[in-house]
Amino acid sequence: MQAQRACLDWAAAAIADLPGAVLELGLGNGRTYDHLREILPGRDIYVFDRRVAAHPACIPPQDRLFLGEIAETLPAAVTRLGRTAALVHTDLGTGDDAANARLAAQIGPLLATLVAPGGIVVANHELSVAGWTSLPEPEGVKPGRYFLYRAD
Ligand code: SAM
Repeated sequence: MQAQRACLDWAAAAIADLPGAVLELGLGNGRTYDHLREILPGRDIYVFDRRVAAHPACIPPQDRLFLGEIAETLPAAVTRLGRTAALVHTDLGTGDDAANARLAAQIGPLLATLVAPGGIVVANHELSVAGWTSLPEPEGVKPGRYFLYRAD
């Protein structure tokens, strides 16, 4: 949680001069969404999950929610938003390396068509996307705990 916050705080500063939306993959209980809207006021934050199971105070507006399987909702977001995201945070990874690799193969190419040039991706699992540069973790975050990228 601390590593996630440190990465998102760093990323919020890194995109200060880059207009664009924020994508949160995995609403969960809404804690991260709540943090994002606090550190990025004024940004459109779009949130993805299979279902809404968040604290009532942390439920995004209906028109900012993409509900369903990520394999289906990301293509819908590509159609609706295009390559306009200044920041993507994905919290979909688990402790299962093989599942994370499958997830990365599934969402990487779709994210590549959503992240604006210069945009930042913060992920709790590794991603490998042509044209993205892997960035060092912010100070205090252990290597391999979180993964940061800048899109070309
Ligand atoms: N950051 C969140 C928070 O603040 O509570 C926690 C996210 S939780 C670890 C992961 C979320 O991703 C779960 O709510 C789960 O339903 C969603 N999720 C996982 N795999 C998914 C998939 N393939 N499609 C859509 N949602 C998915």
